[in-house]
Amino acid sequence: MELNIRELSQWGIPYSDVFVISGPCSAESRKQMIDTACAIAKYPVSALRGGIWKPRTRPGSFEGVGAEGLAWLREAGDRAGLPVTTEVAKPSHVEKCLRQGIDILWIGARTTTNPFAVQEIADALRGVDIPVLVKNPISPDLGLWIGAIERVNQAGITRIAAIHRGFCSFNEKVYRNTPEWRIPIELRRKIPKLPMICDPSHICGTVELLSGIIRKAMDLLFDGLMIECHINPRAALSDAQQQVTPRELGVLLSHLNVKQVSTDDPHYLRSITHLRSTIDILDEQIMQLLLQRMNISMDIGRLKKQNNISILQPERLQKMLQDRLESANRLGLDEQFVLRLYQYIHEESIRKQELVESGD
Ligand code: PEP
Ligand code: MN
Repeated sequence: MELNIRELSQWGIPYSDVFVISGPCSAESRKQMIDTACAIAKYPVSALRGGIWKPRTRPGSFEGVGAEGLAWLREAGDRAGLPVTTEVAKPSHVEKCLRQGIDILWIGARTTTNPFAVQEIADALRGVDIPVLVKNPISPDLGLWIGAIERVNQAGITRIAAIHRGFCSFNEKVYRNTPEWRIPIELRRKIPKLPMICDPSHICGTVELLSGIIRKAMDLLFDGLMIECHINPRAALSDAQQQVTPRELGVLLSHLNVKQVSTDDPHYLRSITHLRSTIDILDEQIMQLLLQRMNISMDIGRLKKQNNISILQPERLQKMLQDRLESANRLGLDEQFVLRLYQYIHEESIRKQELVESGD
């Protein structure tokens, strides 16, 4: 589907290099909002955030102050000279935000997961010219993320950005939400014009990990960052562990290393061209080898068929993976990478043998 999306530079919101949104997870009081906003306005921040309605996973935790907080958010933004943004999860939120003059809306991760909810929000936005940020769904499902972006765009919203806030995972131990970088990378490949914002706070869940994720986001050419910041994080009513103080925000932003896609430096251009052509040659050789390997798999498939032998050979698979991991270690290749690669190769080899089996 062809999307009609405006670049960040055409949004009419000033920013330098990186579009930074910061502010507390939740608006808790008028004073907390004003103090936080005025403290972060010293730094290169482009918009003030503050959650008004909080989608809590389980009941009983702080669910946001509700519509009353919109006036605090608005006043804090005005005092700090910043546009303001909050999360909307249903049409009544959209209406209240529009009435209060909120500048930017975002759709949260739990809402993006539900096409019914996204469609209702999109319908409430029809005919309104406001920027909308769409967080990724909590499950690693790029289709749902793109679907939500399409629904909002079809409602006539052209100032749209995606926010990458990581994905829920049962096994993840380090991050609160696994980054799964290949998903935002794939989103960028599919919709190159779409501005992309990284939310390291919800990926990390803890302040110590933020700088690593921010560095990675800059390396992957994200256009913006959403970083939670609270005047007194320890007293925060939600997400206390992941919110930085304004001073810490200043330090993080002063270390931003913004990357360019390219340069006209002739030395760089010559070296990169040389290295890339070497990679192209190696990839061609890898393909040739894969083809040879698959042809041998088919020979093996024929042999098994003639002798009525099962395609899957658990012991051989175990031994093969073990040997490859040993080679990986010997050569200094990452074990997980080699394991995943050979699982793929083996899967394809089984598919080829099944083709032989089902033919005559
Ligand atoms: C938030 O930004 O505070 C929030 C609830 O985010 P998410 O939807 O990414 O969980
Ligand atoms: Mn939060």
